[in-house]
Amino acid sequence: MEATTAATEARPVRLLVFGRQGAGKGTQAVRLAERYEVPHISTGDMLRAAVKDGTEFGLQAKAIMDAGQLVSDEVMLGIISERLAEPDAARGWLLDGFPRTEQQAKDLVALVGADGIDLALDLDVPESVVLERITTRRVCSECGTTYSLGRDESASSGTCAKCGGGVVQRDDDTEAAVRKRLDIYASQTLPAVRWFGEQGLLVTIDGVGDPDAIATALAEAIDARLG
Ligand code: AMP
Repeated sequence: MEATTAATEARPVRLLVFGRQGAGKGTQAVRLAERYEVPHISTGDMLRAAVKDGTEFGLQAKAIMDAGQLVSDEVMLGIISERLAEPDAARGWLLDGFPRTEQQAKDLVALVGADGIDLALDLDVPESVVLERITTRRVCSECGTTYSLGRDESASSGTCAKCGGGVVQRDDDTEAAVRKRLDIYASQTLPAVRWFGEQGLLVTIDGVGDPDAIATALAEAIDARLG
């Protein structure tokens, strides 16, 4: 049987990607958006852009993000409604980081209609695994290359093998900060994931292992749904 090439799909493809921080969601989301030729809409990226622009809203968002909290459902609905009304979203989209609560999930369905979502994908990586991945992560403060303690010499030496810059742990990669975000994921976002399960829209993919194999599993689940 020949594999379906997504590029030949004429109708819009509308996807959601869930996953704990450190599950590899962002990387897989970029790959899927390319494959299905839809915009990759990351609410985290949109909020960080607002912070960079220095608008009043950006300042408020920064305080919330720095505290590891969630921006309000009402504000997020406004942001996502505007974004989905842009011309490039007419041929589909991939949402990364939204919805993040059960209320946002219901708001999204109210916005796009009951048939307006093709599939929600849950990239499942256990808490213990992401905690280990993130707390051993070190990053070069000059060139941004990431290293892992126990795997890369630069992580333990503190000197970047590429540029000689200082290799450090990011403030939000400490165990306390990561635990806080994982707790919010469990209490706020998992109910949204389960809600999509109840709607028959959810596929869970094992997110531990080779990124290429995970990308293939995700694409197979989507192609099966699109028929
Ligand atoms: P992310 O890059 O997806 O981890 O998002 C970074 C931060 O932006 C989160 O920790 C939240 O503070 C905020 N954020 C992103 N998406 C949402 C959302 N859908 N609802 C509420 N807050 C969000």
